Amino acid sequence: MKKLVEIIFLISIVIYAIANKDSLTNTWQLAYHKYFPCRSPIYYSIGEFDTRFGISKEHFIEDLATAEKIWEDPMGKDLFKYSSNGNLKINLIYDSRQQTTDELSNMDSSLDNSRGSYDRLTAQYNKELLAHNQKSSDFESRLANFNARKGNYERDVAMFNRQGSVSTDVKNRLNTERDYLNTESSAINQLQTELNSEIAKLNAMVADINQNANSLNAGVNQYNRISEPLSEGFNEGLYRSNSKGQEIDVYQFSDDTKLVRVLAHELGHALWLEHVDDEDAIMHRLNTSENMQATESDLEEVKTVCKIK
Ligand SMILES: [Zn+2]
Repeated sequence: MKKLVEIIFLISIVIYAIANKDSLTNTWQLAYHKYFPCRSPIYYSIGEFDTRFGISKEHFIEDLATAEKIWEDPMGKDLFKYSSNGNLKINLIYDSRQQTTDELSNMDSSLDNSRGSYDRLTAQYNKELLAHNQKSSDFESRLANFNARKGNYERDVAMFNRQGSVSTDVKNRLNTERDYLNTESSAINQLQTELNSEIAKLNAMVADINQNANSLNAGVNQYNRISEPLSEGFNEGLYRSNSKGQEIDVYQFSDDTKLVRVLAHELGHALWLEHVDDEDAIMHRLNTSENMQATESDLEEVKTVCKIK
């Protein structure tokens, strides 16, 4: 009975294919895999291959083999096979999506640089501020000490002036104190000038830090704005099938892990797998996980589609 169904099916496919003047092989293979899922491997080959992604064809084929194994190993079945004229064409298509990914990766390193110089500037500022505050507090106590001694000196001078005469000893002491006060006064003025120029320098550093923070924020905002449309789904790849055959287009990937995941996901669609809810799953609608193995829900989906108990 099962054999009869297959024969009737084959005849109807042949009639359909001739009537539609489509490639018999394509139509047959597509329909065969749909109605007799997972019975024989899907043969795939490389179609368009844009070198702007910066990976070699050999590397791409290796990644495809890794992606295959994600399904084949747990199922213990040969589900996909590379063949130079395989019916399922895998295309690597460079467009704005990958361009954006490359742009983001450049932005990422320039943001790292900005972040680094912002951190360095802030650390330098904090160090200089600490030293300045220490110097400033030393200055305050030295100034207070100076003012006290100056007050005493002026009081003594006023007192001796009222008395009219002073001993040589007292006169010498007062002269020594006056000399000290003059020297200390110019040292304090010098220190005050230094502190003022330090404050000006610290203020300039704050302005610099703020400018850095603003451009860093602007950079982060721009990065988020550009990357937002990329995080919407598995739009790094697309599986499509029509009378001309089956194709997988890969548009974008940020690293090898993501590429293998995209390939495994789209190969899954070529097996007629649907999306599953598990975020770690290969067949989740978003390629956010780093998981490289088919999850329980992936395998449930394969078993359902492949009609395996
Ligand atoms: Zn999908």
